Amino acid sequence: MIIAIDGYSACGKSTLAKEIAKRLNFVYIDSGAMYRAITYYFQNNNTDINDPAAIEQELNKIHIEFIPGEHLRILLNQKDITDEIRSPAISELVSEVAAISSVRKKMVQIQREISKDKSVVMDGRDIGSVVFPDADVKLFVTADLDTRTWRRHEELKSRGIDIDFSKVKENLIKRDQMDSTRRDSPLIKAPDAYVLDNTKLGKEEQTKLALEIIRNKSHIPNTN
Ligand code: C5P
Repeated sequence: MIIAIDGYSACGKSTLAKEIAKRLNFVYIDSGAMYRAITYYFQNNNTDINDPAAIEQELNKIHIEFIPGEHLRILLNQKDITDEIRSPAISELVSEVAAISSVRKKMVQIQREISKDKSVVMDGRDIGSVVFPDADVKLFVTADLDTRTWRRHEELKSRGIDIDFSKVKENLIKRDQMDSTRRDSPLIKAPDAYVLDNTKLGKEEQTKLALEIIRNKSHIPNTN
């Protein structure tokens, strides 16, 4: 069974996806972390992201793996880069990298491969529209921009990253704009996705609402 969760930057998708996966005992896959990992690789290897041949060559050298657990870890060529990929420098560049078709092709291939024969909750931008158009349940999460900025700013602060509120907001606006207008797999709400606006919802309220939608759609018994 596949549960697809899409939405704008910092709207709380991954918090929701993680919680749903935990309660339903599904595997959680953070597709955004994969685009961040590729961005990290390109940045560290000085890959010219305007050179399609160089990108193609580098993509063949990249191996991405997730280590499940209380805190999902991501390995790039066996190196744990979970914390590094959350830096503002990666956030600045990731949407540009995610707009490259060869990168998306490779990511979608891995996303489908690692979900094979599993019950999965995957969050991202194109999960319900492109990666799994036949997903059993699709959610499209939204929240107003100031709420999203505040949440992301708090998260960065809690990890010791000191950055202006306005800079965080600017980055979210820029990424949302780039992600929604790119040619390949833009961020859109799939026609059959349920919209979940969590601006005024706490974590537990949004989880309950999402679980209700999932159960109504998929007949999972109410055990949690
Ligand atoms: O989810 P997160 O904010 O970490 O994603 C980082 C970036 O990766 C997004 O801004 C977007 O450019 C890209 N992304 C994507 N498709 C996905 C997931 C993320 O293009 N399925």
